[in-house]
Amino acid sequence: MDREPGKYPLVFNGQTVEVMVKPHVYPSSTITVPPKFVKPPKEVQARIDEESAMKRAVFHSSPPERLWKGRFLAPAPTRYTSSFGVRRLYNGSTQSTHQGLDYSAAMGTQIKAANSGRVVIVHDMYFEGGLVVVDHGESIFTLYMHLSKFLVKEGAEIEKGQPIAKSGSSGRVTGPHLHFAVQWQGSYLEPSTLLRLWT
Ligand SMILES: [Zn+2]
Repeated sequence: MDREPGKYPLVFNGQTVEVMVKPHVYPSSTITVPPKFVKPPKEVQARIDEESAMKRAVFHSSPPERLWKGRFLAPAPTRYTSSFGVRRLYNGSTQSTHQGLDYSAAMGTQIKAANSGRVVIVHDMYFEGGLVVVDHGESIFTLYMHLSKFLVKEGAEIEKGQPIAKSGSSGRVTGPHLHFAVQWQGSYLEPSTLLRLWT
């Protein structure tokens, strides 16, 4: 999202291909959340730093082999209500880019793994709330946020479509929903593009 338009090399499986980045205008929106999620109090800073380090560590430890099989599935049986790339202004002050899709999900909706892989984070985070991260190998990760209940443990090998959690409204939210994100090689991707690849 932050690249200037132009041609860039993309390295995968030891091969380099050239990809074209085209200009795109993303929509913007304003959002109001409790102030503690915009200016976190000093006493939670250590927790926030620890949680960032936890994510960095797993994002650098994906196995080179493929743990996923075939198409990726939508994690919830509903529509998404907020798209990838929306520029958000929190409480009139903090600018942030929406790096995933928000699925409308009533409290307690069953959330399923988008593909097979290994569960690498099951944790209650400050901003993400209840968070599950699945490593699909080859540095592809899916993230599920704002959960109310975990149905898997860290280290578990899971199958595609396996229930992993119940949705909720924990963390920086305006109401119950599922935030679903896809990361590949350190960048957040547009999840709906991945979900459409096989249709
Ligand atoms: Zn979201």
